[in-house]
Amino acid sequence: MKQSKIEWTELTWNPITGCTKISAGCKFCYAEVMSKRLKAMGVDKYKDGFKLALHEPVLAEPYTWRNSKIVFVNSMSDLFQKNVPIEFIRKVFTVMNENPQHVFQVLTKRSDLLLEYDKQKLLKWTHNIWMGVSVEDERVKHRINDLRKTKAKTKFLSLEPLIGPLPKLNLKKMDWVIVGGESGRRPRKMEPEWVLDLQEQCNAADVAFFFKQWGGTNKKKTGRILKGKTWDEMPEFPELFQD
Ligand code: SF4
Repeated sequence: MKQSKIEWTELTWNPITGCTKISAGCKFCYAEVMSKRLKAMGVDKYKDGFKLALHEPVLAEPYTWRNSKIVFVNSMSDLFQKNVPIEFIRKVFTVMNENPQHVFQVLTKRSDLLLEYDKQKLLKWTHNIWMGVSVEDERVKHRINDLRKTKAKTKFLSLEPLIGPLPKLNLKKMDWVIVGGESGRRPRKMEPEWVLDLQEQCNAADVAFFFKQWGGTNKKKTGRILKGKTWDEMPEFPELFQD
């Protein structure tokens, strides 16, 4: 468990680490940079750098946390990579199922495998699991359809790093949309009209809207103000403690 600086979560929990790039949104992957840095610092969990690694002992951690937490699962990886054994994915789900006092936010770019496992009824969806897909531009919009077809009870989209317009999204069955621009040394630009359009789409579809950041080379300076204020809407989770 690690306190997170990510605006839309509290903690990160990484039972797996390491990943491979799959689409344009991965170009400046933060997890890759961090994994290599942690390896260089001699952190044992990252001794394989950005290569996929499963960390069985980490599965026990959520049982020990005091108070309810909002947890981003696998911030340093992608749970639905094809090389992650389904048995391990199911163990991660069991931990989430057995800890209804916490909200677990799972985010993937491998929506095809997510849908496949869901169709095979291999995943147990409790109310405390929020399932999301990342969509950085129109080329990967199909991930939203895959997510929609799953039985996840709360569904969300991370439109970050937003590197192209996303007009006329089908937001049916979506509960939450996060929008953010790319940061780092050579960020790709996010146009304000893309963000405003997405906010309008969320309003029209009654979907919670969270604006994470404008990004750029100095993200502290560009901040996260849109139309004069911050937008930190979240899905509701009244049934969190009832599973
Ligand atoms: S899927 Fe996520 S963790 Fe994996 S390479 Fe892409 S951005 Fe990085």
